[in-house]
Amino acid sequence: MITVSDVNQFMLEFAPLALAEDWDNVGLLVGDPDSAVSRVMTCLTITPDSAKEAIARQADLIVTHHPLPFRPLKRLTTEQTSGRLLLELIKAGIAVISPHTAFDSALNGINAQLAKCFKLSNPRPLIPAENSAELGAGRIAEAASGTTLKTLLDQAKSEFALPQIRFVGSPDSPVHLVGLCCGSGGSFLQTAIQSKCDTLITGEAQFHTCLEAKANEVSLLLLGHHTSERFAVQELARLLSQHFAKLDVWVSEEEEDPISIG
Ligand SMILES: [Zn+2]
Repeated sequence: MITVSDVNQFMLEFAPLALAEDWDNVGLLVGDPDSAVSRVMTCLTITPDSAKEAIARQADLIVTHHPLPFRPLKRLTTEQTSGRLLLELIKAGIAVISPHTAFDSALNGINAQLAKCFKLSNPRPLIPAENSAELGAGRIAEAASGTTLKTLLDQAKSEFALPQIRFVGSPDSPVHLVGLCCGSGGSFLQTAIQSKCDTLITGEAQFHTCLEAKANEVSLLLLGHHTSERFAVQELARLLSQHFAKLDVWVSEEEEDPISIG
């Protein structure tokens, strides 16, 4: 029998919680560690669509990148979206594990995987964890000689099947050193500048962060928050089914980027 605790243990080894940011809420968030698991769904976020899918397909456990609950709860009612979703999952006996920023920063976590997607070499943390050279937040990695911003744009379009990508900078700018931070990585811009990155790849950034990047001649590639992380929960489903041969694991088919480009 595989339990919630067994899957949680695997997640703790893959993405140690010590790597999570202080403000985060990670680990086993809902459920009984001793309950049996045979069906697991991974997803980026628990939404009405992905929760409905997990219930319909009788998942015992959801491994979601974004935590639910995230903020401390003073009440659990159907009056808020998070309460409604949590009550539905609890009623269906579905446990929830979230690795979030521990997954971003893990050795083979989302940022390391992003560096691979862009064929960058020698990845290391943009902000190293204490007493570690290979673990930490974000990544910094090197581009092959002759790489331009256009090269990265074309790679992103084919890798993630995107028709268009938002970016700051000139397509013909040479790219040598790239900062990577999945999700909302605007706060990493200053570190990327200090680390002499000429390009920062992230999911999303605010307008004033874009202006600051331009003023410092750093190019920004904005993949979209969903795109910059969703591929990794697909990979996580593969890893889980490889490690636990008896588990039925799938990545949510119902969740989608809430932002459309028209
Ligand atoms: Zn995110």
